[in-house]
Amino acid sequence: MEKEQPVSQLSLDEAKQEIAPLRKQLTQWGKEYYEEDNPTVEDYVYDRAYQRLVELETRFPELKTADSPTQRVGGQVTTQLTKVRHEIPMLSMGDVFSVDELMDFNQRQQENRDVEVEPEYNLELKIDGLSLSLVYENGKLVQGSTRGNGTIGEDVTANVKTIKSVPHKLPEPLSLEFRGECYMPKASFVKLNQEREAAGLPVFANPRNAAAGSLRQLDPKVTAKRDLATFMYYVPEYQKLGVTTQAAALDRMRELGFTVNPNNRVVHNQEEITAYIDEYTTKRDQLSYGIDGIVEKVNDLDTETALGNTVKVPRWEIAYKFPPEEQATVVRDIVWTVGRTGNVTPTAVMDPVQLAGTTVSRASLHNPDYLREKDIRLGDTVYLHKAGDIIPEISRVDLKKRPADSEEYVVPTTCPVCGSELVHLDDEVALRCINPMCPAQIKEGLAHFASRNAMNIDGLGPKIVQQLWDKKMVRDVADLYHLDHDQLLTLDKFGDKSATNLLTSIDNSRNNSVERLLFGLGIRHVGAKAARLIMAHFGDLDHLMEASAEEVANVDGIGPTIGESVHTYFANPQVVDLINQLRDAGVNFTYQGPTTTVAEDSPWNGRRVVLTGKLEELTRSTAKQWLEDHGAKVTGSVSKKTDIVIAGTAAGSKLTKAQDLGITVWDEARFRQAMQEEN
Ligand code: NAD
Repeated sequence: MEKEQPVSQLSLDEAKQEIAPLRKQLTQWGKEYYEEDNPTVEDYVYDRAYQRLVELETRFPELKTADSPTQRVGGQVTTQLTKVRHEIPMLSMGDVFSVDELMDFNQRQQENRDVEVEPEYNLELKIDGLSLSLVYENGKLVQGSTRGNGTIGEDVTANVKTIKSVPHKLPEPLSLEFRGECYMPKASFVKLNQEREAAGLPVFANPRNAAAGSLRQLDPKVTAKRDLATFMYYVPEYQKLGVTTQAAALDRMRELGFTVNPNNRVVHNQEEITAYIDEYTTKRDQLSYGIDGIVEKVNDLDTETALGNTVKVPRWEIAYKFPPEEQATVVRDIVWTVGRTGNVTPTAVMDPVQLAGTTVSRASLHNPDYLREKDIRLGDTVYLHKAGDIIPEISRVDLKKRPADSEEYVVPTTCPVCGSELVHLDDEVALRCINPMCPAQIKEGLAHFASRNAMNIDGLGPKIVQQLWDKKMVRDVADLYHLDHDQLLTLDKFGDKSATNLLTSIDNSRNNSVERLLFGLGIRHVGAKAARLIMAHFGDLDHLMEASAEEVANVDGIGPTIGESVHTYFANPQVVDLINQLRDAGVNFTYQGPTTTVAEDSPWNGRRVVLTGKLEELTRSTAKQWLEDHGAKVTGSVSKKTDIVIAGTAAGSKLTKAQDLGITVWDEARFRQAMQEEN
């Protein structure tokens, strides 16, 4: 893009040659972003290409087509969610990238309306999430939906009801639609991605995509687990609220119980606009949610109506987009760390740089595939940005600055901590150390054992675990039950009180109901919920240890993958030894919770699914097994009865047939995401 010719110098033929591939590229990026919640390029790369297309179409209007990305609101409805028609279309928004461009826009807006006085604007933060429509009838929430293509969106009512900031009932019996943004707070996004990375799953690119992926779920229980929030900012039929300005509409929405962003400001001139932009360009890093710009809206709502809309964007509002914040630095090292499940993750260590308010010297490279795709090498100059304003990420390598003697980075084949050979399990993207005695995993495992949902040992965090390990006081979880007061006093900053408290927490954990212990042991695939289902069924650990893989797999809500994993774990003599030590230490092995389990319906139950094409990260048989474990029926051919087709690369006639029949088609990434939501 850098060296492209100015549009003003292009001939019609040259423009023609450029425009088709550009449109195709933008359509593809749009699909990845809006439909799959999985963008492959940064927003500013998309924005730059989009601007170029606008310029080409403005100079050569004869090349404009009805299906151009400039003429449509992005995103088709491709999920299995029910479709919803928006009686009042949900539009996109025009954007500008500098204050000068914003002033030009305002000037044109005024000229078009032929007004002389400076109009009044309401400035708001542009929340980086996805648009949400909430419809109330007689004050009751009856429908929540996404924007989709602007006319047809997706029904997410049940999902929306799980979001705390959405009122189910208004204090007035209003029948009205409210619009706003659904987003994921920065901290929740970081946590979700950490969990996904530990599970060997692809991470979400930014909070916007994480929010979209979480809201557009078939199963509201999944949405409920994700921390989503809303800021409402628009009432299309404002007359029904008795307000005449946008600022007053925001206040009214607040009164009605909606969460409205508190940072809007009414302004009148360039000075005030610039001051607001400057203020939030600085403050954005401190906000708990991501913003990607500022929205300027004409404050007077009748003027807004008079200005109206183009096919794609309102004429009364515009987005000022923040410039991308990037810093160049040099990669000095790539270090590999081992997680609890043996997940071995690469991190780039770079010369420290100031980036969006913090000093950054490390960025996760997630997994070997990611590292290879970006071709990051030691000594490379790279550009860093913060994904979703928060996570440092390498956006690209500056190849011009690559040292002449640079060599491709070689991914290690052995564990950096214990030296065992590393493997890819079940075709995961993650690299794993499968040595159960690996010290790194044991330390992580000890911290997991003590964590809140496991044995809930207050005061035993990773730092204390590290010290207990370094001082050779603890080598496995059973050793925790033999620690004594004097030993604990030798730990850093440990006095009488902290030693007593920790010993009391450890002692209390002996009495936990056994599902906490089962989860705390950190058996692969066994989450807190599976542990509860298994222990509710078997009643005590001894019965479970005697069970075959099939018997475990047959427990309601558990499948062969977990069955196999549990059985293999307890077949290990070292594990049996550990369990005996825990028994001797007086740890409770019986289930004390309710004896009936809640039937938790899988959204896959009874679904007919067809797998076609080549899957890259999963094998066909793993995918089939997982689907069957979750109640789906995997069939070999596509028919009208098929609910969903999962298409890998080079999918042939089955994919064509599915498309002809209008059946939902998912790619592998979308399916892996769904798998993660269910686990
Ligand atoms: P947009 O997201 O840039 O702006 C419009 C949206 O802003 C509205 O629909 C609304 O949801 C939101 N918004 C947030 N706060 C608001 C407020 N206070 N008032 C009003 N609206 C507010 O437009 P779009 O059409 O949804 O998406 C286009 C943008 O998406 C592009 O500019 C690009 O940055 C990004 N995109 C990226 C890729 C990629 O591959 N990276 C692909 C397609 C689009």
